[in-house]
Amino acid sequence: MNDKVYIFDTTLRDGEQSPGASMNTVEKLRLATRLAQLGVDVIEAGFPAASQGDFEAVREISKKVKGSIVCGLARVLPDDINICAKSIKDAESPRIHTFVSTSEIHLKYQMQKTQEEVLQIAKDAVKLSRNLCDDVEFSAMDASRTDPEYLCRIFEVAIDAGATTINIPDTVGYAIPNEFGELIKYIMNNTPNIDKAIVSVHCHNDLGLATANTLAAISAGARQAEVTINGIGERAGNTSLEEVVMSLKTRPNFFPMETGIKTDKIYPISRLVSMITGIIVQPNKAIVGANAFAHESGIHQDGVLKNPMTYEIMRPETVGLVTNKLVLGKHSGRHALRSHLKELGYELSDDELNIIFKQFKELADKKKNILDEDLEALVTEGIMRTPDIFELDYLHVTSGTTVKPAASVEILINGRSVKNTDSGNGPIDAVFNTIAKLTGTESDLLRFSVSAITGGTDAQGEVTVRLREKGILTLGKGTDPDIITASAKAYINGLNRLEYLKANPVTPPEVL
Ligand code: MN
Repeated sequence: MNDKVYIFDTTLRDGEQSPGASMNTVEKLRLATRLAQLGVDVIEAGFPAASQGDFEAVREISKKVKGSIVCGLARVLPDDINICAKSIKDAESPRIHTFVSTSEIHLKYQMQKTQEEVLQIAKDAVKLSRNLCDDVEFSAMDASRTDPEYLCRIFEVAIDAGATTINIPDTVGYAIPNEFGELIKYIMNNTPNIDKAIVSVHCHNDLGLATANTLAAISAGARQAEVTINGIGERAGNTSLEEVVMSLKTRPNFFPMETGIKTDKIYPISRLVSMITGIIVQPNKAIVGANAFAHESGIHQDGVLKNPMTYEIMRPETVGLVTNKLVLGKHSGRHALRSHLKELGYELSDDELNIIFKQFKELADKKKNILDEDLEALVTEGIMRTPDIFELDYLHVTSGTTVKPAASVEILINGRSVKNTDSGNGPIDAVFNTIAKLTGTESDLLRFSVSAITGGTDAQGEVTVRLREKGILTLGKGTDPDIITASAKAYINGLNRLEYLKANPVTPPEVL
């Protein structure tokens, strides 16, 4: 039996710290369900003390998601730990993850504490956590820039106090693979009680080395990898789940280890994370990028046709990439829709199914083949959102080579209908100007992008907008076969998210 590498997914916590990627409780719950189906060992569901919204999301996930450990993050403060314990108490297998800075630069400038003081704080925090929960992870923030001798001391104290996992984060993405591997080895050789805990690593991608550092650590003996889907996360992001998992799977001779990940669910969840967060995956991204399995060169194509292994080290099916299989069409009934949604992981109530079925029929009138991606978009738009303040009710646009683009828009504001018209440089500008007028928004539009969900000219357009108002950043998403309508939906979705964030402010957590 091979060694197991535990996969700790922090898409919902560190991933959510990506600028503008905040998710609401419904979205987090949906993602957590899919993470459990993917087979991750631990879901870091959030930072419960950071905001009421985070607390509720972690509590809901704890109640409803089965099969994975559900973990909440807490600073070493007793309040944080107590709030965290409360939020995860209904989980099948709860974990408290507490952390403190250990590097000289953080101690001196950020915390103004001595090493001895921090040792005591860590000990007390782990003890308190362990009184509240049997599964406790302790992280030494900025470990890669911490004196290794001190790291061993603090881990020894944490394990003595009851930590079952100790985590070594490269918080600022500074480590180099060989050096990081050596650090892990040093810690494993010089922490007397290290055999009583699982050694974990948490890397950031500031130098593009997060995956390499994580693999070096695994080679050196680490057995938990902290990762996110698509590598999203603070700044340049975290280690990406798909890269680590597929490296281990593709090179079993080099890594005689296993993970519990069902790799054929990787691509679908990558799409879902991109859809929910609005963070588009770069086409050349390893494993999940649009071009990851596209062979352009004639020599390569010839080889792949004769035998895929000539130029492919992995099969696209292994990561769940199936080329646009036809799923449903205009004549598909309610039952077929329900069973297909179930395969995708959505168990809908009758009311929810009615909503999606109606939208599905409308879409099928406009688009011949309804693919998995289209269904995901319908579910995203139809039922997975928090109650919206603004809703698009009617849209009419004129544009062309000889007319000044103009839009006439009707929206519902808390159910009350308002309408107006305005013009712009182009049809989308006209629509946005009209919506801005109707909603009285003060937000700036920082980015606008449109892409097609699937191939073909009848594909649904997927629009992402990035908005900022008074320092709050958010994204809006909209899909529709008509890209102007998709743009209006995206803008309105962004405005709804801004309202949500204004009502549920998040205390920016410290980095980890
Ligand atoms: Mn981090």
